[in-house]
Amino acid sequence: AKADGRGSLRFFSPEIMQRAKERLSLEAEMRRALERGEFRVYYQPQLHLGRCEVTGLEALVRWEHPERGLIAPGAFISLAEESGLIVPLGNWVLQEVGRQMRAWTDEGKAPGYVAVNLCALQLGCVDLVDAVRAVLDANRLPPDCLELEITESCLMADRGRAIETLETLRGMGVRLSIDDFGTGYSSLSYLQHLRVHRLKIDMSFVRDLETNPGNLSIVTAIIALGHGLALDVVAEGVETPEQLAHLKRLGCDLIQGYLVGRPAPAPDAIDLRLGPGHP
Ligand code: C2E
Ligand code: CA
Ligand code: CA
Ligand code: CA
Repeated sequence: AKADGRGSLRFFSPEIMQRAKERLSLEAEMRRALERGEFRVYYQPQLHLGRCEVTGLEALVRWEHPERGLIAPGAFISLAEESGLIVPLGNWVLQEVGRQMRAWTDEGKAPGYVAVNLCALQLGCVDLVDAVRAVLDANRLPPDCLELEITESCLMADRGRAIETLETLRGMGVRLSIDDFGTGYSSLSYLQHLRVHRLKIDMSFVRDLETNPGNLSIVTAIIALGHGLALDVVAEGVETPEQLAHLKRLGCDLIQGYLVGRPAPAPDAIDLRLGPGHP
């Protein structure tokens, strides 16, 4: 590269340098944000169609930036994963959810469970089991009030180890669900190796369920597969009454989406009672 001055110039183009700088400063900012307590957990309800009630919530992290306002995880989760910051951030989310569950329990209005998202790096960490146990113990919570959502990419890095960790957690009584089901490369093969409680149908299949016969077939097949394996099936990203009608007809167990409720800070989420206008 030394002989080819132009080549190295091209390699360190201003855009690349600029991007690298931005990443570094975002990373540093996230580190500070974690110390300063700028992250928030929002909760989105999951409606059980058979029981017609909200049986649980999914915890979704947000960054309340002092200048830029509320930042969605799409803008920082992947960098948090690459930099390793997802481990302390993920631990913080677990602790915050545990604390909130205890508070709800004391007020007599705890949801059945809260689902927390995990990424590959967290699963590769030896401490995950201890971290989960510590949160449950510290808040005197039953293990089945915690659900862990994993995606296929969670299992990519060190599959054997990840599955072992998840088996341990399942043995403790923690619930497991597969997120974004149907979007990975070998969703079916990991169902063989890992016993879970739920499948979450990715919202890309739910989106135009009314008009896209292909998606209708896929959703039908996932529900049949889930039920064949005695798993609950949750449809994500449900926005319209038409989508809901299809999902009901197909025997889907639970729905999550803007139709039921958007992710919201804790006090609102738990006060959610389905009025007559709701499904
Ligand atoms: P996800 O786990 O698939 O979460 C579902 C996403 O869909 C959330 O986006 C939610 O706000 C959004 N959503 C829910 N209902 C609807 C709907 O009806 N329509 C549409 N268009 N969207 C809907 P969000 O909160 O921006 O989170 C994005 C992703 O960030 C999550 O996808 C998850 O992969 C990741 N994430 C969020 N919180 C955490 C966390 O604490 N830890 C980790 N590792 N990842 C997280
Ligand atoms: Ca999720
Ligand atoms: Ca999902
Ligand atoms: Ca996702």
